[in-house]
Amino acid sequence: MGVIVAKFGGTSLANAVQFRKVYRIIMEDPRRQYVVVSAPGKCHSGDTKITDLLYACHKKASLGEEFGEVFEAIAQRFRDIIRDLNLDLDVEPLLKEIRERIAAGASADYVASRGEYLNAIIMAKFLGYDFVDAADIIFFDERGMFDSERTNEAVARCLSRHERAVIPGFYGSMPNGEIKTFPRGGSDITGAIIARGVNAEVYENWTDVSGFLMADPRIVENPKPIRKITYRELRELAYMGASVLHEDSIFPVKKAGIPVHIKNTNAPEEPGTLIVNEAEPVTCTGAITGVAGKKGFTVIAIEKTFMHVELGFGRRLLSILESNGISFEHMPSGIDTISLVIADSQLDGKLEKVIEEIKEQLQPDSVEVHSNMALIATVGRGMAHTPGIAAKLFTALGNEGINVRMIDQGSSEINIIVGVENEDMERAVRAIYYAFVDNCK
Ligand code: ADP
Ligand code: ASP
Ligand code: MG
Repeated sequence: MGVIVAKFGGTSLANAVQFRKVYRIIMEDPRRQYVVVSAPGKCHSGDTKITDLLYACHKKASLGEEFGEVFEAIAQRFRDIIRDLNLDLDVEPLLKEIRERIAAGASADYVASRGEYLNAIIMAKFLGYDFVDAADIIFFDERGMFDSERTNEAVARCLSRHERAVIPGFYGSMPNGEIKTFPRGGSDITGAIIARGVNAEVYENWTDVSGFLMADPRIVENPKPIRKITYRELRELAYMGASVLHEDSIFPVKKAGIPVHIKNTNAPEEPGTLIVNEAEPVTCTGAITGVAGKKGFTVIAIEKTFMHVELGFGRRLLSILESNGISFEHMPSGIDTISLVIADSQLDGKLEKVIEEIKEQLQPDSVEVHSNMALIATVGRGMAHTPGIAAKLFTALGNEGINVRMIDQGSSEINIIVGVENEDMERAVRAIYYAFVDNCK
């Protein structure tokens, strides 16, 4: 019998009602032996995620402010879940210890991780599964980099001794035993690591939407679900803001050839999305798989006549970025032009210095800076070698009166990226979605 690793996100675990749905899903299939949980998410749209409350608690404590009220709100959420599930579990000693450690100056990572830690203990009790602490099996090295091989061995060894277990998502430990978290949304990564470690038949990622949708449901009303998507397509979309699955969570399972199945905790009967290595070609040409957008970029456009014959121009340009500690996202180029697309978080106060150095060292004819840019990725394995896709895309944007500042059709041929003003992003995503959604009817 194969093994399934099932990860449940914060919205799937916001309260006791959600816990019961999770219980039914797990009990339905005995292969669901390993369960990874996030911290409780929002119960309703005005609510705050436990992880955000924990960060707020740490911030207050580190500023020497009173954090008791925020901590109580967190504690009460857990107490309510335990009470509503009629569990015979005393969390008070755990809450007391966490509170004392926050008061004693515990790190932000430790404090933030306690949401998944407590939730996993509760879920383990509820399911009658063992609790296995992620700190004992997921490791980072001295530099804080994820240590995949050491982790993989530890996961395999440890879980071979536990037939059924719940593991908290989002964190692991440093060589000195300190807790370290993954980036936000990182429980997806934990799920993938566990799936690889136990050589799962499938990694199920349970969330609050019926799989990966063709566009962000907060931008497009009722977008069409994607039944099958390749790892490459998913990475392009996830990186560009389709935040349903953390983009780094793909590597461990891809490496091991384990399919990922995204499912809806609130509608488990729906098929969801299957992420696979190579999906069969899409049935009709010209179809896209999805579209996603992300705000907060700056484009530096450089023009210089005969740039293309000037030896070392590109290298010198990139070395300016490197010496300023800046990484870039894209670098579309023409004969006499080259543009750099950089996330604002990378530039942070360094823009003027970089422009000065470019002017001084490269003597360009002109340097233009476009700030407040959003990037939109239109992705699809069916796009490669299909004529007319770009024309259709630009017609859709043109009809909407959206100004396209940058275009980059990556060499992968499964992705066309356009840069538009931040404020145009939602309109542009909608225009592209509607231009392609009915393509295969
Ligand atoms: P979880 O708490 O289960 O980890 P997340 O909030 O991290 O869930 O991810 C699910 C959310 O991702 C959805 O509720 C949806 O708002 C958002 N989302 C953004 N883009 C997409 C997309 N293309 N398809 C599905 N969901 C998307
Ligand atoms: N709870 C963490 C967060 O809010 C991790 C996760 O949900 O995946 O980012
Ligand atoms: Mg998530």
